[in-house]
Amino acid sequence: MTPATHSSLFPAVPDSADAVLEGLDPEQRAVATALHGPVCVLAGAGTGKTRAITHRIAYGVRAGILQPATVLAVTFTNRAAGEMRGRLRQLGATGVQARTFHAAALRQLQYFWPRAVGGALPRIVDRKIQVVAEAAAGCGLRLDRGELRDVTAEIEWAKVTQTVAADYAAAAAKAGREAPRDPAEIARVYDLYEELKRDRGVIDFEDVLLLTVGILQDRPDIAREVRAQYQHFVVDEYQDVSPLQQRLLELWLGERDNICVVGDAGQTIYSFTGATPDYLLDFRTRHPGATVVKLVRDYRSTPQVVRLANGVLGQATGRAADHRLELVSQRPSGPEPRFAEYADEPSEAEGAARAIRGLIASGVPAGEIAVLFRTNAQSETYEQALADAGVPYQLRGAERFFERQEVRQAVHQLRAAARFGGNDALLGEASDLPGLVRAVLSGQGWTPAPPAGSGSAREKWESLAALVHLAEGFAAARPQAALADLVTELDERAAAQHAPTVQGVTLASLHSAKGLEWDAVFLVGVTEGMMPITYARTDEQVEEERRLLYVGVTRAREHLHVSWALSRSPGGRPNRRPSRFLDGLRPGSGSAAGARPGLAGAGGVEYGTAAGGADGIRAAARAERAVPRRTRRTVARCKVCGRTLTDAGEMKLMRCEDCPSEMDEGVYERLRSWREVQARRSGQPAFCVFTDKTLIAIAETVPEDPVELARIPGVGMRKLDRYGADVLAICAGQDRTEAD
Ligand code: ATP
Ligand code: MG
Repeated sequence: MTPATHSSLFPAVPDSADAVLEGLDPEQRAVATALHGPVCVLAGAGTGKTRAITHRIAYGVRAGILQPATVLAVTFTNRAAGEMRGRLRQLGATGVQARTFHAAALRQLQYFWPRAVGGALPRIVDRKIQVVAEAAAGCGLRLDRGELRDVTAEIEWAKVTQTVAADYAAAAAKAGREAPRDPAEIARVYDLYEELKRDRGVIDFEDVLLLTVGILQDRPDIAREVRAQYQHFVVDEYQDVSPLQQRLLELWLGERDNICVVGDAGQTIYSFTGATPDYLLDFRTRHPGATVVKLVRDYRSTPQVVRLANGVLGQATGRAADHRLELVSQRPSGPEPRFAEYADEPSEAEGAARAIRGLIASGVPAGEIAVLFRTNAQSETYEQALADAGVPYQLRGAERFFERQEVRQAVHQLRAAARFGGNDALLGEASDLPGLVRAVLSGQGWTPAPPAGSGSAREKWESLAALVHLAEGFAAARPQAALADLVTELDERAAAQHAPTVQGVTLASLHSAKGLEWDAVFLVGVTEGMMPITYARTDEQVEEERRLLYVGVTRAREHLHVSWALSRSPGGRPNRRPSRFLDGLRPGSGSAAGARPGLAGAGGVEYGTAAGGADGIRAAARAERAVPRRTRRTVARCKVCGRTLTDAGEMKLMRCEDCPSEMDEGVYERLRSWREVQARRSGQPAFCVFTDKTLIAIAETVPEDPVELARIPGVGMRKLDRYGADVLAICAGQDRTEAD
């Protein structure tokens, strides 16, 4: 474990250019010192690619070889750009631009638009999908949400591959894209979409790049100006460059060749948007004199995590797989990855929250833990579970920290306090810097303990707590520092967009986690349908999903938890199965081609263990239901005649609708009266407590213990928790209608 101690938050800035090189291995050093001409680094996850290029920039700047303002470092996500700025700053390389392609292009576009076109840059459209819907309607097409999303993705793909509407059908066929509708229809929607935007004077995200490219192509004077400003280019995650971004890069570069690219074809996860690893893999063909460096030592993850990562990629196929580099861990041994299966998503989220609490209790800082999922819609269940478990979390990326209103206000207050000498009587007893900061921020709503629940109050508190934490680290690193020094530090960080680590568990999508790392990573929802996602149909699309899992696995330094749920909601049909990408890698899944011997069986399958203070009902029910449930529920049979049941209502009843009922009428009536009281108390409709079918099934079974009760469809963990004791008491003949 590498806890984010104060010294790691404020590492000493290397005192010379040579000192910058000290933290690199020989291959990385070769990258860092090759400051002229084309350089290409091909290497797997965690091998120090980002480290090599940030050190390269820092070394060049510190040695006086590169002028900071002439360097442009580009990457793909705001988080990654923020991370890069932070690393550069820690190495003493300030003034270097590190941005996403979009942010860099947008800045240039805003600057040159008045001269190139006149007037102000058009507004960027807020809800693109809405405009696509209007365009579809204008073409006489009614698309459902899924189709709209697919058609929008096609339009985006067309734009980043610089394909106009008239050429879409031919280009899509050539690229082997499975168009979600008739390509001619998509082309018409695309055409009308562009027209609608023009009429409204708005542009979209892709237009930002297209327009920048257009201006640089058409206006040699502007291109010259941009090239005079930027002379050295560095691209991280180059495997995810789109043809349009590549074009922009070429225009920035002009006839020069001071370009350094790093990437890992095995982490290509944006090809659905038109990105391709071909530019990375063909770099040497385009630049015959390039310095090419390969890195294989994995400094990030333990041998256990690396083995699983190699296993996931070991089964890959396609061009990226041909360039596979087996990772070799440099870290000491750690715990085996853990795999856990749960009955439903809320139980899975509860399980993750419980394990996270355990990790925090064992000393892993919350900010060093991440929960990663395939779709953003999965986030909410985890937000809820973490809030219920009293675990702080954050959703927002690093980029906007200093723009948050509460942070701006807090810095403003700290500045005002510093102006008063930081010892205003209002600040009371506080004698040290962190104490002063806490006193100032308590006026803004900071409290020693977080507010209950989730929501905006909690987010605000997390921001303030991050500032307090930062102040503590700052004071520990510089004991003599005064409040004014801290304010200067905050200003510098804000200018460099170097956000402090918010001390909360990160909830993020796998796509947005690219390039980042945490001590502990929870990969959740790893089922067929999520990974690969249902709409991944072609082999290439499925391979991309596999790489996404590889990206997820390789985010973990030490602790890795992989989990899935057999059904979505409590009591739902357990018809899901773990992702095929785990076949042969997770315990109990047999061995698949490419599986590493010794891995299967090593992790120990945890079926939603009930450890951690769960009460007896939950513990007993969960322990029992976990293993056999899947086999028991996959084929539901009528308990009277034995016929296989497929109707949802009959499955809830556990018998055919017309097979004789053996219901205990008395229990049924008492359950109904009790349900009415419950519904009234909680202000919900009665069926939200239990449906009629579930009540009938309970009255037919008359369960004697939580285990039997939990077996009844419609009785999920949450309901068991809430109503289990009452229902069992009624079944045992007690009247609970009036009971509390
Ligand atoms: P990804 O493919 O996920 O983007 P990467 O190749 O960019 O990974 P980095 O993020 O640069 O890898 O490095 C992974 C981790 O290993 C970081 O914590 C980094 O500081 C550490 N690391 C890299 N190289 C070294 C080294 N030579 N000595 C010590 N630690 C290193
Ligand atoms: Mg990286």
